[in-house]
Amino acid sequence: MPNTTTVQQSIPRVRIAPSPTGKLHIGTARSALFNYLFAHKLHGTFILRIEDTDRERSTLAYEESIKSGLQWLGLLWDEGPDAGGAYGPYRQSERTALYEKYLQELLDSGKAFICHHSSAEIQQEYEKKKEQKLPLVHRCDQLTGTDEKGVIRFRATEETITFTDLIRGNISVKASTLGDFSIAKSIHEPLYNFTVVVDDHKMHISHVIRGEDHISNTPKQVALYNAFGWTMPAFAHMPLILAPDRSKMSKRYGAVDIQEYRKMGYLPEALINFLALLGWNPGTEQEIFSLDELSEQFSLEHVQKGGAVFNQQKLDWLNGQYIKRLTSEELAQRAEPYLRDVLEGKKFDAALFQRVMPLAQQRMKTLRDIAEFAFFFSVAPYDPALLSWKDTSLEETRKYLEEVRTCIVGLDEAAWDEQRLEVAIMAHANALDNRGKMLWPLRVALSGLPQSPGPFSIAALLGKEQTLERLRTALQLLQ
Ligand code: GLU
Repeated sequence: MPNTTTVQQSIPRVRIAPSPTGKLHIGTARSALFNYLFAHKLHGTFILRIEDTDRERSTLAYEESIKSGLQWLGLLWDEGPDAGGAYGPYRQSERTALYEKYLQELLDSGKAFICHHSSAEIQQEYEKKKEQKLPLVHRCDQLTGTDEKGVIRFRATEETITFTDLIRGNISVKASTLGDFSIAKSIHEPLYNFTVVVDDHKMHISHVIRGEDHISNTPKQVALYNAFGWTMPAFAHMPLILAPDRSKMSKRYGAVDIQEYRKMGYLPEALINFLALLGWNPGTEQEIFSLDELSEQFSLEHVQKGGAVFNQQKLDWLNGQYIKRLTSEELAQRAEPYLRDVLEGKKFDAALFQRVMPLAQQRMKTLRDIAEFAFFFSVAPYDPALLSWKDTSLEETRKYLEEVRTCIVGLDEAAWDEQRLEVAIMAHANALDNRGKMLWPLRVALSGLPQSPGPFSIAALLGKEQTLERLRTALQLLQ
């Protein structure tokens, strides 16, 4: 439970505070989700704050990618400086006056000071401390400095810093082990540990829910809350996302950029479901959750302490489940851009696409898998040798294809369906010593591929005209 100096608020205000120094990372997306769920469960507010104080590494393009990634996932933030219409996110670069005011306050009270030690001097200090097995932190009072400019540091106190992490329990750290930590490069250039405290306080953030990698920053932040006499928020640090070998999740094991998942054809709802289970468990057997269900069921008590291992098979399975649950119209709508991508401007037949959907739906694991059905719209050039079954000669193959053609030319177009085609063609195929001799070339003629769905279902979906057209092409190739 939160300790007495924690904000006691029944309606939470939470935030994610990404730095726009990269695209929307899977870890940030998971933080966004947990914050979103926590807020929604209790009808609270979810805030997006762009931490762009690092002016060299922050870009607007990354900010855009973070925002569009969150929007694609459906994790919409509730508040921003330009209220009404689309909320802009908060941006630290637009709040510099506020940071200057509070930095000045700390400087005036002597709780912070300008340190004149150069980095070479600090390096020397660290070397000595290493020998003495002391924490590698800078203490300004032990040395005189020569650096003219000087960073702003928070003066270490002798207090013990204590806070309660809602996932990890009580944590105590001696302030002296933090050293005189830096809080700004200059009065105009505040650093993360400082701005985060000012902003979380000014934005009335009730719960800071973020990745475990920030747990070591928290004592510094708590020290600042104490210095200002501000009530601190509750903290909850989520387990790291780990690769299957329990190393830090990296590109080697799967995409780390959320937009990559979109390109690969994952559905946002499947990814949300997957991310929710990376560190949280419902305590039941349920595996499929909508965002609303997650909002109802989510609780920090069910967030694990240990690392959450990324499981690609689970994501693929979930995605397949979500694809199966779509209506075929919905799937068509979502898969169309992926198909058009591979067709590269070649003719797209909307009615045929609708007909193909139920077959595709059974087989697709991702939206991009629709590419496997592109042959319905355009057959890629293929080697005529592919048409013959095993060592059947091209001449013989041609004979079988002619036979199929003659057989189906007579079929009534109004009664053109898989079953009738099968009955009609099998009557001929079964008469051969091996029916593959006829069925294989037929399938290749219709798909142009070494592997595809069966010939009757392709022919049924293509319709009579297209089927005959493709047979004609194959026969020409065999001449
Ligand atoms: N800007 C920090 C980050 O991107 C925010 C950490 C926090 O949530 O306090 O990791």
